[in-house]
Amino acid sequence: MASKLELNDLIRRDNFIDGKWVAAASGKRFGVTNPATGEVIADVADSSEADARAAADAAARAFPAWRDALPRDRAAVLHRWHDLIMENANALGRLISLEQGKPFAEGRGEVLYGASYVKWFADEATRIYGDIIPQQQRGKRMTAVKEPVGIVAAITPWNFPLAMIARKIAPALAAGCTVVGKPAEDTPLTALALVLLAQEAGVPPGVLNLITASRENAVPAVAAWLHDSRVRKITFTGSTPVGKYLARESAETLKKLSLELGGNAPFIVFDDADLDAAVTGLLASKFRNGGQTCVSPNRVYVQSGVYEKFGDMLAKRVAALKVAPATDPDAQIGPMINARAIDKIARHVDDAVAQGARILAGGKRLDALGPNYYAPTVLLDATPQMQLSCEETFGPIVPLFRFDDEAEAIRSANDTPFGLASYFYSQDIRRIDRVSRGLEAGIVGINEGALASEAAPFGGVKESGYGREGSKYGLDDYLSIRYLCQGCLE
Ligand code: ADP
Repeated sequence: MASKLELNDLIRRDNFIDGKWVAAASGKRFGVTNPATGEVIADVADSSEADARAAADAAARAFPAWRDALPRDRAAVLHRWHDLIMENANALGRLISLEQGKPFAEGRGEVLYGASYVKWFADEATRIYGDIIPQQQRGKRMTAVKEPVGIVAAITPWNFPLAMIARKIAPALAAGCTVVGKPAEDTPLTALALVLLAQEAGVPPGVLNLITASRENAVPAVAAWLHDSRVRKITFTGSTPVGKYLARESAETLKKLSLELGGNAPFIVFDDADLDAAVTGLLASKFRNGGQTCVSPNRVYVQSGVYEKFGDMLAKRVAALKVAPATDPDAQIGPMINARAIDKIARHVDDAVAQGARILAGGKRLDALGPNYYAPTVLLDATPQMQLSCEETFGPIVPLFRFDDEAEAIRSANDTPFGLASYFYSQDIRRIDRVSRGLEAGIVGINEGALASEAAPFGGVKESGYGREGSKYGLDDYLSIRYLCQGCLE
């Protein structure tokens, strides 16, 4: 196989189990649609429990040899995978745009971002250290070593179809775990393409297995893993209700869990902020992927002294954003993923307006472009009673809440069961210290809207979940500690 592929060469329609591309045992398939047009791009396997079990069987067979492989050999496979992803960044970026809808520049950006995790964990694979514990008794030696937890089940969402799965598979393989995965039903093609490149990179049969399924069949298929005692870990990115369900269902076999769940990120602009920087930071963090990002600011709190001015500055920039399908090279915001997403956005805006919010920009569907487009929107006079205050909108909507003092801003920001990302803009060094400690969130952006990095620990607190992806901490979720106590040494 040539290593540089065209988009069509990257499309796979079958499951990948034990190193082979196989149809679902039932022979069933379901269609993947382009959210920009509603057209079916490809039919992929609609898997059931039988396929999930076959994947787990393969992962169990492959585990001992992969666990015992030299770390540097696992690293070499991951480095080759990284290089192949980079060589095919353009085609992968186009595939992401095709099935997920984001503009090509963002699709390609996601490829580079996902690849950075593969490289990071390829390097980390060779740095999994244990400890020699200071001696406690004569004649006894105590050591702690790290070992892979076993088979990992990875379940991923549609908003970053490459990055979300790459940053689960890479640390799992680096740690010596084997993987069974299921991507979101809206965007399985990118994950299949990634697995194709992993196969070419030399990932041994059974070490990485991927099945696809419609939402209906995903539930029993994933349940087969949840109840399988050989599967030792679930790593999931998605909604909080599904995360809680996975935790409940896997409790019987006490699996290790990493749950990267919903957010409801606050973004606070204080009177003393650099307003230009705050607008730029808000645009970067809010409109990435059209607002369909779990770290997207959902509630923007602006102090009364700069409220109107900030609203005007923001509305000007937002009104200039170009909404278009990914095929338009100038597109900055694409279609939303599906009808369910666009209905929720419209419901939130309608509810806010009914409760007194004023529209400064946008506020409507863009039906001329297609059924899944919504104009980027700025709303003034948002209140905590509005739906968009308590639910994650997951779209290009910026509601501006007014506040008077710092304590009120922190209280409002924390008034949510979620705690993933948070952001604030201020130039007062003491305030920066207070607010960065006061916000209940796993991630805090201080005068910065772009926080993502493979070198940083990504994850939440409260009902945004637990576990961290990326950074030196990211491998811990895939490792357990074995304590060795050796006696009779004197
Ligand atoms: P979203 O609302 O963004 O689609 P979900 O949490 O519903 O987020 O989905 C994230 C991932 O979890 C997808 O791969 C989806 O197929 C999967 N999923 C959703 N519900 C279940 C379930 N009950 N059991 C197993 N997997 C599920």
